[in-house]
Amino acid sequence: MNAEDAVARPATEPAVAEAAATEASATDAHAEKRGGRDFIRAMIAADLAEKRRDTVHTRFPPEPNGYLHIGHAKSICLNFGVAEEFGGLCNLRFDDTNPAKESREYVDAIREDVRWLGGDWGDREYYASDYFERLYAFAEQLISMGKAYVDSLSAEEIRAYRGTLTEPGRAGPYRERGVEENLDLFRRMRAGEFEDGAHVLRAKIDPASPNIVMRDPVLYRIRRARHHRTGDAWPIYPLYDYTHCICDSLEGITHSLCTLEFADNRELYDWVLNSLDIFRSRQTEFARLNLTRTVLSKRKLIQLVEGGHVRGWDDPRMPTISGLRRRGVPPDALREFVARIGVSRADNIVDYAVLEFCIRERLNATAPRALAVLRPLKVILRNYPEGQVEWMELPLYPEEPEKGVRRIPFSRELLIERDDFREDPPAKFHRLAPGREVRLRCAYYITCEEVLKDPDGTIRALVCSYDPQSRGGGSPDGRKVRGTLHWVSAAHAVEAEIRLYDHLFLKDDPSDVDPGNTFPDSINPESLLVVQGYVDPSLRAPEAGESVQFERLGYFCADRDGSAGAPVFTRTVTLKDTWAKLEKKSAPGQG
Ligand code: ATP
Ligand code: MG
Repeated sequence: MNAEDAVARPATEPAVAEAAATEASATDAHAEKRGGRDFIRAMIAADLAEKRRDTVHTRFPPEPNGYLHIGHAKSICLNFGVAEEFGGLCNLRFDDTNPAKESREYVDAIREDVRWLGGDWGDREYYASDYFERLYAFAEQLISMGKAYVDSLSAEEIRAYRGTLTEPGRAGPYRERGVEENLDLFRRMRAGEFEDGAHVLRAKIDPASPNIVMRDPVLYRIRRARHHRTGDAWPIYPLYDYTHCICDSLEGITHSLCTLEFADNRELYDWVLNSLDIFRSRQTEFARLNLTRTVLSKRKLIQLVEGGHVRGWDDPRMPTISGLRRRGVPPDALREFVARIGVSRADNIVDYAVLEFCIRERLNATAPRALAVLRPLKVILRNYPEGQVEWMELPLYPEEPEKGVRRIPFSRELLIERDDFREDPPAKFHRLAPGREVRLRCAYYITCEEVLKDPDGTIRALVCSYDPQSRGGGSPDGRKVRGTLHWVSAAHAVEAEIRLYDHLFLKDDPSDVDPGNTFPDSINPESLLVVQGYVDPSLRAPEAGESVQFERLGYFCADRDGSAGAPVFTRTVTLKDTWAKLEKKSAPGQG
């Protein structure tokens, strides 16, 4: 990374995050939520009430250098959400000033993801590159005002002159160039006369400012790179800090909401708008979303994709919006999640379980029930008539029986889950065992009478009897059974590929790699387990994206890979939080 890049976009600086965390004490965090309003909504309400603003206009400003992730979902919901709540507007603006890393593919993916989450930007889709001409004119204006100069130091020299957090910077030898010379050089930079890195345009502020960002920040650099929208028209590109505030201002953005790592940049944001005397947008920072067992940085997500650790940006293990969508997470669940975690200035890490809770809650209301068996064991009902088929009724939504039933075929040979039988059951195992009676969901009581084995001792099938008086699964004579099992009819069930996804990382903070290692070093080897299972015949040809709850197993989503032939189901989330248990199991293996 060179010095220009270092000031291009701030990395998340622990110092900033820490300061913000202390600033927002526990009581502040409480106060922030008073009246059901976070500090941003409270601030906007006050701006309107006290007539500092008469409208609310926000923007979501992604850089098209990767796919959006769940952290962006927080920003999308916040920006589009407050605009809607206060009767204002929210723009979608691509912050496309770094041609080397940006592409049309990313632009298209971002548009799709924002729309899917419910963001409506109307016809206000903007690109920083749309403003290149005006940004350039403003730069000439700053030069003419003596507020910007062309510096010809190398990137390393600029860094050396800039000083450090504890050391003030010094003025470089080109700082006092005259306006005419600066204008001439800058125009020649634009004309493409110089090689990359030969000169930069810098703001003339204060080389010794206590805020490093204000030590004559770079505004423009020479970069002979083809831009995905402007082609080869520009050999110079403006930097983020210079571009963002001007775009905000030109679009009439009233509230420019961004994450805490930009807090130190706010002084520069204000300086640019004040110097040019254009519409004063105002920047406010909030804490970015961090999630356990998840990386939320496009740079790291690219490493996962390019390193082949996942099957692409929309792999269901990815925290990308497209990955979550493919996994079967409904947009409502993401919006609910964002609302639940709230917005504050206190940096924190949200437990992934909170997200799973929101997904379950949503799918519980929207995913109809079905039966599937992942690891089958055959059951033969000795006393059930051969060739007979009965259609049992499974409520689609047990809590809302009026919403109807799924009709499921029942016959003499069934498949149950291998785990639901134990030849030698431990205490508290309430499922099937020799001589024991259980209920088959919405069907009959059955009793295990015999265990059939292969010569090598593996269990091939169970011979059971059923009680014809217990049809529908009700008790015929008040007789109690403790277990209820799911099942499918062997002759009717449809084979399906079932993809069982789990966390991609074993560490709570995957970016915290062990000494000597590089990222990623804690990939969960069991983050994807594929099994060949059997599903109810009504799910022979599900629509891609369709969600169901396989009773007792979890919420699943039909994957588009299944549209060619046998259905493919992806597990969205288990029914309960099983991770707590798993964590104990795997704890000794982690350093
Ligand atoms: P990354 O660090 O993942 O590359 P970024 O900040 O570079 O993300 P941008 O495309 O510039 O990504 O982000 C667009 C908007 O989304 C910015 O306003 C940014 O502050 C916000 N954003 C990015 N990550 C998060 C996050 N984890 N939580 C909340 N908002 C975020
Ligand atoms: Mg970034």
